[in-house]
Amino acid sequence: MTTAVVVGAGPNGLAAAVNLARHGVDVQVLEAADRIGGGARSGELTLPGVIHDHCSAFHPMAVGSPFWTQIDLEHRGLTWRWPEIDCAHPLDDGTAGVLYRSIDQTAAGLGSDGPRWRRALSDLAAGFDELSHDLLRPVLGVPRHPIHLARFGPRALLPATVMARWFGTEKARALFGGAAAHVYTRLDRPLTASLGLMILASGHRYGWPVAQGGSGFIIAAAATALGEYGGAIATGVTVRSRADIPDADIVMLDLSPAAALSIYGDLMPARIKRSYQRYREGSSAFKVDFAIDGDIPWADPACGRAGTVHLGGTFAEIAQTELERANGQMPRRPFVLVGQQYLADPSRSNGDINPIWAYAHVPFGYNGDATDAVVDQIERFAPGFRDRIVARVSKSTAELQAYNANFIGGDIIGGANDRLQILFRPRVAVDPYFTGVPGVYLCSQSTPPGAGVHGLCGYHASEAALRRLRTEK
Ligand SMILES: Cc1cc2nc3c(=O)[nH]c(=O)nc-3n(C[C@H](O)[C@H](O)[C@H](O)COP(=O)(O)OP(=O)(O)OC[C@H]3O[C@@H](n4cnc5c(N)ncnc54)[C@H](O)[C@@H]3O)c2cc1C
Repeated sequence: MTTAVVVGAGPNGLAAAVNLARHGVDVQVLEAADRIGGGARSGELTLPGVIHDHCSAFHPMAVGSPFWTQIDLEHRGLTWRWPEIDCAHPLDDGTAGVLYRSIDQTAAGLGSDGPRWRRALSDLAAGFDELSHDLLRPVLGVPRHPIHLARFGPRALLPATVMARWFGTEKARALFGGAAAHVYTRLDRPLTASLGLMILASGHRYGWPVAQGGSGFIIAAAATALGEYGGAIATGVTVRSRADIPDADIVMLDLSPAAALSIYGDLMPARIKRSYQRYREGSSAFKVDFAIDGDIPWADPACGRAGTVHLGGTFAEIAQTELERANGQMPRRPFVLVGQQYLADPSRSNGDINPIWAYAHVPFGYNGDATDAVVDQIERFAPGFRDRIVARVSKSTAELQAYNANFIGGDIIGGANDRLQILFRPRVAVDPYFTGVPGVYLCSQSTPPGAGVHGLCGYHASEAALRRLRTEK
């Protein structure tokens, strides 16, 4: 029987493990932490009975994931819950751009930009599943839906700063800009429009749901599937060297390229080793979780109905703060994401005490305390917020790394999205998962298609391993 060891029980490690196990491979997962889930854990953080997502929160990429849908997590204990509004982006004049699942409803709120919003996003939302098949995998593959891809291409290649000019109103520009900022790099670079457009299209296709009870339920469902296919998980096992990895035909590393290098670097072909050595982190976050009494007193009431609220002001302001951040400067008013998961899932609250999830984009390895900057950004669009805080817990970039060794310098998406890394991770290759060491693969978010709880890095890496095994036999 073919055997496999998966190092790391994040969403991608588990996806790889489930896919191998359902192909009859005997799989063992080794996880350093005392709980599985990596960037998709949840639980109490601030006060008893108040449930927080420790990292990932909103899951358009999971609910529509071509892999998770095959595994049918919803029959294994996962329930998706949708907020009434997916995302709101408030401005200083007290109004907000608002993203609904319905394109028509979104367009109706954007005034003269309504028709432009429709033209920019309707075809992407309608063809989202086909596009996902081609975009959420290694770039150097043969496209299955070339027409959809060719239509997306001209918009995807643009810098977000150019795409933003498509819109005439500040509301629409800012709504696009908040989504584009998820690319986590300066917005005047080619291709930076692509992620914003995909995230918005995913919202129109699937909405931005949360997992009932917390993101940990996505992981619990995946672990249940793994158990059903005969796989086993050991927690509290940190892999530091090859000696910690039992003999197996396949080794899947749900790790950073730096960790893969430290374990297998001496066996890697020189060319691949150099690519790993050149790999750059850079997309750092500073996380703050709050317990608040009641709701956030947003100036625009639509923000009080939105799961996600993007805080950064106008498109021009976001482009400027992301530029400063990418250049290593801490912006005075950083881009902040706020999550109000309890609106979709009231089971996370304890009476009137509600959990609020937030993080700021900060320079790589930022060693200051950004708590006040996060509070100030919320207060800017919701005067009186500060008075509602009952408890709060901050995680600096160093604490994020201590929480999960993959978050190097607080980089929460497994690498900088600059230069070639936006397309090719961890290196330019037809099979970017293969480390060059026989049987050893990287399957973390530092591989295509990158960050998100879609499990697709793990799925594609495990498919690559199975293919190579078949051709070697
Ligand atoms: C604050 C924050 C907010 C986010 N928001 C979202 C969101 O809303 N939606 C979304 O889709 N994504 C979001 N993400 C990103 C998402 O969490 C990641 O893309 C995803 O978790 C990556 O999965 P992974 O399996 O590649 O790695 P990880 O989740 O990092 O898992 C890796 C696992 O490997 C383990 N490990 C590391 N080193 C070792 C070792 N030496 N030995 C054994 N085990 C080891 C770690 O403990 C961890 O469990 C967010 C992330 C953060 C931090």
